[in-house]
Amino acid sequence: MPSFSGQHTLITSRPGHVEVIAGCMYSGKTEELIRRIRRTKYAKQSSVVFKHEWDKRYDAELVVSHLQNSIQAIPVGGAETIYSMSQDAQVVGIDEAQFFGMDLVDVCRRLAGEGKRVILAGLDKDWEGKAFGPMPFLLAEAEFIHKVYAVCVCCGADATRSQRIVNSREQVLVGERSAYEARCRACWTPVPIFAGKEEMDEG
Ligand SMILES: [Zn+2]
Repeated sequence: MPSFSGQHTLITSRPGHVEVIAGCMYSGKTEELIRRIRRTKYAKQSSVVFKHEWDKRYDAELVVSHLQNSIQAIPVGGAETIYSMSQDAQVVGIDEAQFFGMDLVDVCRRLAGEGKRVILAGLDKDWEGKAFGPMPFLLAEAEFIHKVYAVCVCCGADATRSQRIVNSREQVLVGERSAYEARCRACWTPVPIFAGKEEMDEG
């Protein structure tokens, strides 16, 4: 069994389990996913990493962190594709898990049931502060949860929320790295904050 510093090591008879790395924008979720996948490579375990095909922020076939670390990833349109393409892997990584549908929960359950280590990274909350897509159910399914934090741009405290700073009420604004700031609970507000009138006029 893998063991993480500061976490209880689960005693199980089979290796399959689910790990979730959750946090707000700029909290280092993808960085932590990349770190864990790299460790499995050193351990000579077979791994495969997926991302949602919506996520083309930096590169179509890489998972790239804000610190510009990257690993190869397969862009997929849905969770069933993850299942069918994971059959030869011991470790399955999934980035931006919040973009997938609820069927991702069942896919992770099946993969873990088959003895695979499933590592997910995702936004736990959307810009309105609401639970994002399948994330609350993935957190419930997981044996291991790791919350990561950004730094609040207003006060420097640990940030747990993504503050939208452009004029849009869509839940998903892919590729808009400049559309958010990391903020703590006290500094965050559930309405978009606009930098200027130009952004408001675009609607
Ligand atoms: Zn703050």
